[in-house]
Amino acid sequence: MRIILLGPPGVGKGTQAANIVERYGIPHISTGDILRANIKEGTELGKTAKEYMDKGLLVPDEIVVSIVQDRLTKDDCKEGFLLDGFPRTVEQAEALDKALDEMGIKLDKVVNIQADKEVLIERIVGRRICRSCGATYHIKNNPPKVEGICDKCGGELYQREDDTVETVATRIQVYLEQTQPLIDFYRQKGLILDVDGTQPIEEVFNTIVKAIE
Ligand code: ADP
Ligand code: ADP
Ligand code: ZN
Repeated sequence: MRIILLGPPGVGKGTQAANIVERYGIPHISTGDILRANIKEGTELGKTAKEYMDKGLLVPDEIVVSIVQDRLTKDDCKEGFLLDGFPRTVEQAEALDKALDEMGIKLDKVVNIQADKEVLIERIVGRRICRSCGATYHIKNNPPKVEGICDKCGGELYQREDDTVETVATRIQVYLEQTQPLIDFYRQKGLILDVDGTQPIEEVFNTIVKAIE
């Protein structure tokens, strides 16, 4: 199973990704997670990426493309993978096409999750993440049993630095200008599955599973 999750910031890609990879036993490749891990470790790549991420802008294509190219050659990707938050520009999508061609493999589906701006803002501002295991919560929609503590591992929940009202508007604008054109790019290839992201988490998941099985 080779899947891309496409959609604006905050629509629920990471949340669905966690459920999908668990069900199908494929690796979850999130460029956002990989970039944040680099920031945490203080790598050169992380330092460069942080300047863009803090402003809500996209990290340059060559950086994320080489991250994904490397990742896809790892053994655990042989039976499939789920890309979350990549590609985000037409250049990235073309680079991915080329890499997959060279590997002799094809994508199965591009899951396009959608919701309007008000929903995205509310979701992003209320998002909380576990420092230890990366699980995602929402203060209203998907709260942990104990405030500030991860249900799964007992870790501390935090708010991402770029999840502020200020950067959200930029991130949504960047999505509309640079990422939304990918919907047509993949629709022309017959790969798009449109999913209503305003449904409850479980229902979004069920819709995706029904369509990909
Ligand atoms: P969200 O879940 O809100 O969409 P992500 O975790 O996917 O956020 O991404 C956070 C930030 O990381 C983005 O705003 C961008 O700066 C950077 N980033 C992640 N993936 C990419 C990518 N494929 N291309 C460029 N920048 C990226
Ligand atoms: P993305 O990876 O697309 O940026 P996330 O999966 O991190 O989005 O979800 C953003 C926020 O919205 C999180 O706080 C998450 O708990 C919440 N959320 C995700 N899906 C739904 C949904 N279907 N209904 C309500 N809240 C949701
Ligand atoms: Zn946790």
